[in-house]
Amino acid sequence: MNRHTEHLAQDRAISMLSQDLRPCIVVLETGITKPKARELYREIHGVRPRSGQMRDADSIVRTRREFSAASCIMSFYCALAPNYASRVDPEAVMAAHRIYLEDNPPASHRITLNEVWVLARALRSAEARLVPCSKCSAKYLEVARQHYAPACPHC
Ligand SMILES: [Zn+2]
Repeated sequence: MNRHTEHLAQDRAISMLSQDLRPCIVVLETGITKPKARELYREIHGVRPRSGQMRDADSIVRTRREFSAASCIMSFYCALAPNYASRVDPEAVMAAHRIYLEDNPPASHRITLNEVWVLARALRSAEARLVPCSKCSAKYLEVARQHYAPACPHC
């Protein structure tokens, strides 16, 4: 990385970390080093980032409510990120989550920003997909190995 791209990468990293995206995601999305990402996280939040495995897509959405929320967020995401099948767009991940929170009180939301990123990665890898409902015509999320029987969570 030359100094200019390094600077841009760090700016993006700061914006992502400020919204509480995990350092491991920010490393993947910006190319900054893991120690740098963890150091920036600590500077921004005043605490060390938690470590540990990311949840898998199928464990993020387990109930009808979670499927309903995830279907709305991922529909926003796909509208904002037309190339969602070839790459994850972290800015669109953040925007889709923000739009969802604007219309839904925090208590009703169960999908975190980091989980939206995991679902966006699942859409890219075709581990998840949005399916149009034949009754209400809204799109709903289907995830490989899901526990909830595949059906529209809105109907
Ligand atoms: Zn439906």
